[in-house]
Amino acid sequence: MTARIPHWIDGAPVDIAERRVAPVYDPATGAHTGSVVLAEAADVDTAVRAAAAALPAWRDLSIARRQAILFRVRELLEQRKPELAEIITAEHGKVIADALGEIARGQEVLEYALGFADVLKGDLSINASTGVDVSSFRQPLGVAAIISPFNFPAMVPMWFFPIALAAGNTVVLKPSEKDPSASLWLAALLAEAGVPAGVFNVVHGDKVAVDALLEHPDVASVSFVGSTPIARYIYETAARHGKRVQALGGAKNHMLVLPDADLDLVADAAVNAGFGSAGERCMAISVVVAVEPVADALIEKITARMAVLRIGDGRRGCDMGPLVTAAHRDTVASYIDLAADDGAVVVVDGRDVVPDGDAGGFWLGPTLLDRVPLTSAAYTREIFGPVLSVVRVASYEEGVALINASDFGNGTAIFTNDGGAARRFQYEVEVGMIGVNVPIPVPVAYHSFGGWKASAFGDTKAYGAEGFRFFTREKAVTTRWLDPSHGGINLGFPQNT
Ligand code: NAD
Repeated sequence: MTARIPHWIDGAPVDIAERRVAPVYDPATGAHTGSVVLAEAADVDTAVRAAAAALPAWRDLSIARRQAILFRVRELLEQRKPELAEIITAEHGKVIADALGEIARGQEVLEYALGFADVLKGDLSINASTGVDVSSFRQPLGVAAIISPFNFPAMVPMWFFPIALAAGNTVVLKPSEKDPSASLWLAALLAEAGVPAGVFNVVHGDKVAVDALLEHPDVASVSFVGSTPIARYIYETAARHGKRVQALGGAKNHMLVLPDADLDLVADAAVNAGFGSAGERCMAISVVVAVEPVADALIEKITARMAVLRIGDGRRGCDMGPLVTAAHRDTVASYIDLAADDGAVVVVDGRDVVPDGDAGGFWLGPTLLDRVPLTSAAYTREIFGPVLSVVRVASYEEGVALINASDFGNGTAIFTNDGGAARRFQYEVEVGMIGVNVPIPVPVAYHSFGGWKASAFGDTKAYGAEGFRFFTREKAVTTRWLDPSHGGINLGFPQNT
């Protein structure tokens, strides 16, 4: 029998024997390593009630005390993150160095959130009207629901919960059921650092748990990251139930290569951004748009780099690990035949990979497709695996038009030495996050993260100042200390004098 993976509610692990479970695998071996308990609506209700009960004391804790606890979380995370990286690799499959990288980017948001006292300072206008002062300040929303995807089991929750907690909210996190253990590890760490019981809760589950969160009257806000169809559903359903909601969706990120670019640097960047984390990143590059005549030379350089990549168990120092599940590996692999049937050239077929790992692992090697037709589903859909497509265009204008015609608008990059072209690209491209000679332009923690079009639903991005705005609401107070000169009756609308 495999270990059961419990919820974390009101400061302790919670398992309920009769509940449904889902299997958790080690993607590098294919072994069934755990069974995650799936919440029913009643379990979600228990977690939300715990978060609601913990809210007043947490919200009312002084800035100094809340800051001290969150500093302790940061210190413990800094000391223990290799443990968390092992957990991520064992359930997600990404290589250890990449798992450490995701933790580091999440930790940056935590470190940014530690400055909340400054970000949340209010405003004051003295003598706005004669003898009248006006101030405004922000307060927490209440219970924040966070629903996260499988591909960043630590970083994506950390995009949200440090800011939610710093701003005085309490949290119920529903992580992906495919790699649920990282969130439990984080919950235990927060408790050890002194975060009071009920302030941070984890419920595992599928659509049943998600729907219960979206509909629960005590949930004030919903932060979601995942695929576009589910993001759209979350946005519509949560908004219908009166929640403040931000829902980040899928992506299809293009890298535009101008003929003047250094093709060695471009090839390095395309391989790193296309195959890092087996392409299971929402900011992965999935399409190289080569402005001719560079495509043939670029493909040669990319192919040479792909030949030396080591694919295998993430614990063995390899460059790229397996995919998250056998089903996802099969879906990704099916795009190779689909693209070929549509007329694409399969330059490198990842199904031929010989991994440094167990035969039962969910392997698919890096794959390179050339001349992918724009009508092929291999071009239009998000594949979310190690499949890099090359599309050839005749000009900068044709490249930008193609990127702007995509349903998605998460990330993009231009590679060039022409400053004028790069500047024009930033202005013209309809994408939320742009790299200039930077292939994975994930903004730092004090800027905000979010795409355009079908890559994000809602008005607020993740983390940075927008994150604080999302997790708080503003009050404006107009104050007049009465003196005898304020007497008299006047039914007109208040005028400032
Ligand atoms: P997913 O949409 O399948 O799942 C995301 C979350 O939604 C999980 O917690 C899951 O349990 C839940 N869920 C799944 N089906 C549901 C349903 N029918 N109703 C309600 N909830 C449901 O996504 P995934 O496969 O875990 O993650 C990969 C996707 O996430 C990719 O599309 C990727 O681009 C996207 N992603 C986007 C960003 C971004 O910032 N835009 C970041 C990371 C990942």
